[in-house]
Amino acid sequence: MQVIEAIKKTKSFVLSLEITPPDKGTSIDELFQTLDGLMQFNPQFINVTYHQPHVVYEEKDGVIYRIPKRKKPGTVGICAAITNRYQVETVPHFICGGFSKYETEDALIDLHYLGIKNILALRGDPAVGERTFIPHKDGHRYASELVRQISNMNKGIYLEELENAQPTNFCIGVAGYPEKHFEAPNFERDLQNLKHKVDQGAHYIITQMFFDFQVFKNFVERAREIGITVPIIPGIKPLTTVRQLSSIPRNFHCTIPHHIVEDMENARTKEEARKIGIKKVVELCQQLLDYKCPGLHIYTMGKGQSTADLLKALFG
Ligand code: FAD
Repeated sequence: MQVIEAIKKTKSFVLSLEITPPDKGTSIDELFQTLDGLMQFNPQFINVTYHQPHVVYEEKDGVIYRIPKRKKPGTVGICAAITNRYQVETVPHFICGGFSKYETEDALIDLHYLGIKNILALRGDPAVGERTFIPHKDGHRYASELVRQISNMNKGIYLEELENAQPTNFCIGVAGYPEKHFEAPNFERDLQNLKHKVDQGAHYIITQMFFDFQVFKNFVERAREIGITVPIIPGIKPLTTVRQLSSIPRNFHCTIPHHIVEDMENARTKEEARKIGIKKVVELCQQLLDYKCPGLHIYTMGKGQSTADLLKALFG
């Protein structure tokens, strides 16, 4: 089922879980163990992230070579394996970085043949080892261009003219940033760029993680004011350690409210801090569900136990 259909059909909300492929050379079993423990919560969708290769520079005979090394391959294979094992829909993340638009088209055809109906279309983070995002010379600079390419394929428009070309039928999600994307000059401009992605054919938005309900509410209201009408699904990250209070803002460019920081820092033990973190995020989810948001998207980041604790506290 498409995410957008599921949102239209549900009387409550849609639950999606985001997972990351294992490192190259390691087994998929650990990922399955994580999901085995989470399937009791009946997620409708499992999102699988995609990662640009790490870039390393190596010298040989006095010449420096730029060598991309993919550390977490396997997104599409993992999607197929998950659907096969759990009969649940998967949503592969699809990025601009590292691909020409021709390679993108071929990869989209693979997904179409596999029966995958949903894609989260992203620009992607800069490759590890590079400071800024560098597009492929024949690729896309912004996610909106990728959305347009997928949208065109949904209309049967491919890069070359094909007779009787079959349209694909992808439901397209995109990323939104309640606290602004870190590269955008301001919130308004970032929101306009988000609207552009929707105008190019995105069907729904999943947000970056945030920890304050008012931040999400303000984001939704401002998005509606400028004419973004598609569903906006909040992205949720379970908080479990005091260390995350600095690593999350650093890595994801979002803030954590003072009451959460203080309560977690004042905890006497790691276990107490963990309980407080989970409780605060449960409260946030309850506010979001009362607000009738269309779904919850949980960033598991391979931490099945914290996601399970969060979902158990929320739904029993
Ligand atoms: P874009 O929408 O292209 O925006 C990037 C920046 O460009 C923004 O500042 C925007 O305001 C600006 N911009 C957009 N259009 C224009 C324009 N026309 N002119 C000028 N500026 C413009 N990363 C991964 O590598 N793999 C993943 O699997 C992954 N999954 C994610 C899932 C979610 C739910 C989220 C929220 C993020 C995810 N990311 C992932 C991170 C994401 O790729 C980064 O945040 C990236 O820096 C931006 O991606 P985007 O798709 O939002 O880019």
